[in-house]
Amino acid sequence: MNIHEYQGKELLRQYGVAVPNGKVAFSVEEAVEAAKELGSKINVVKAQIHAGGRGKAGGVKVAKDLDEVRTYADEILGKTLVTHQTGPEGKEVKRLLIEEGCDIQKEYYIGLVLDRATSKVVLMASEEGGTEIEEVAEATPEKIFKEIIDPAVGLQGFQARRLAFNINTPKELVGQAVKFMLGLYKVFVEKDCSIAEINPLVTTGDGKVMALDAKLNFDSNALYRQKDILAYRDLEEEDVKEIEASKYDLSYISLDGNIGCMVNGAGLAMATMDIIKHYNGDPANFLDVGGGATAEKVTEAFKIILSDESVKGIFVNIFGGIMKCDIIAEGVVEATKQVGLEIPLVVRLEGTNVELGKKILKESGLNITAADSMADGAQKIVSLVK
Ligand code: ADP
Ligand code: MG
Repeated sequence: MNIHEYQGKELLRQYGVAVPNGKVAFSVEEAVEAAKELGSKINVVKAQIHAGGRGKAGGVKVAKDLDEVRTYADEILGKTLVTHQTGPEGKEVKRLLIEEGCDIQKEYYIGLVLDRATSKVVLMASEEGGTEIEEVAEATPEKIFKEIIDPAVGLQGFQARRLAFNINTPKELVGQAVKFMLGLYKVFVEKDCSIAEINPLVTTGDGKVMALDAKLNFDSNALYRQKDILAYRDLEEEDVKEIEASKYDLSYISLDGNIGCMVNGAGLAMATMDIIKHYNGDPANFLDVGGGATAEKVTEAFKIILSDESVKGIFVNIFGGIMKCDIIAEGVVEATKQVGLEIPLVVRLEGTNVELGKKILKESGLNITAADSMADGAQKIVSLVK
C-alpha cells in the first residue's frame, strides 16, 4: 500500500527522522492558512499524489510570499499531473503539502528495499540525489553504495557511518546522517515497509540533514497489524476495480491491455498472461480468484472484469483442483445475467467437476467459445478481439 508524502513525513517525524515543517491542505484557503501558521519566509507548494516525478511535471513550486502560495495552490489543486510514474492519463491533485522552504546545499539519495536475492533489507545511498535513481544505476552504477542488513542485529552504526562516508557526507554532518539512517531503518522494520525511499535527502545551509521527499510503501499482507498505517489509505488514489476486488478478497491488478482474464492460482494467472502475450495479445488484468472461492466471489470477479471498458474479450482459464469448475461456471452465468455479456468469451475448464461446469455453461445459452487447452484458448481470444 502506498501513502502520501506528507503522511510519510508525519511517520518519520514520530521516529525522530528529520523532515521540514509542513502541513497538508485540501483547499487554496487552507494552503494560505498553513503557510501563515508555518511562518516561514519561503514555502514550497507540493502536489500530493501517489506518484513521483512531480517536480518535473510542475507539481512542486517554491513560493516567496503568501500571494505566491495562493497562486501556486490555485494552479496545482485540481490539476491533472502527468509524470513518468502516473501513466499518460495522469493523476488529479486533491491535496497539497505546504512545507517550509529549505536552503539546499546538496541532494543525496537514500533508500531501503527488500533485496529478494539476499532475502535481506538493503540500505542504498548515492550522492547523485534529486534525479531518478534508475538513471544513476544505469549510467553510473559505481555511485550507488549498498549495505546489506542482517535481520538478527539490524542496521549497525558502522554500516551507516561507512555509507555516509561513501557518499561524501560532509564530516561534521556524518553524525546526523547516521542518526537519520538508523531512524529510517526503525520505521521500515516496525511499520512493515516494502520500500522507504528518500529522494532527495539534503544537507542544508544551516547544517542539517533532512528528508525533502518521502516515498513509503507498505506490505499489504502486514496491514492487519498496522492499523495506523491502514488509516493513511487514500482510496481516491487507487484503481476503483482494485478496491472492489479487495472487498471480496480477490487478487486483482489492473493492466493496460484489452483481454480480461479470470484464472485460479497465481502461477496459472501469470502463465495465462504470458501465453496471451505470446500470441500477440494484451491482458487487461491479473486476477487470481483463489482456491476456495464461492460462486458469489466468482460472480463479483467476473463483474469487475466486465465493468472495465477497455476489455474487449474475456479468457476464463481454470484448472479445477480445490476450486471446482461448476462453481466457476455458476459465477460466470450469474454475473452475465446481472450485467450482460456483449464481448467474446473463451472458456477453458479442466479438473474437478469439469463435465458439470461445461454443462452449466452450455445450458446457459451464452455465446461461449470453448477451448481445449491454454494455448488454444489464448489463440482463440486473441483472434476474437482483433
Ligand atoms: P518529486 O520527486 O515527486 O519530483 P520532490 O519532493 O523530490 O518531488 O521535490 C522535487 C524537488 O523539489 C526536490 O528535488 C527539491 O529540489 C525541491 N524541493 C522539494 N521540497 C522542497 C523544500 N521543502 N524546500 C526546497 N526545495 C524543495
Ligand atoms: Mg523526489
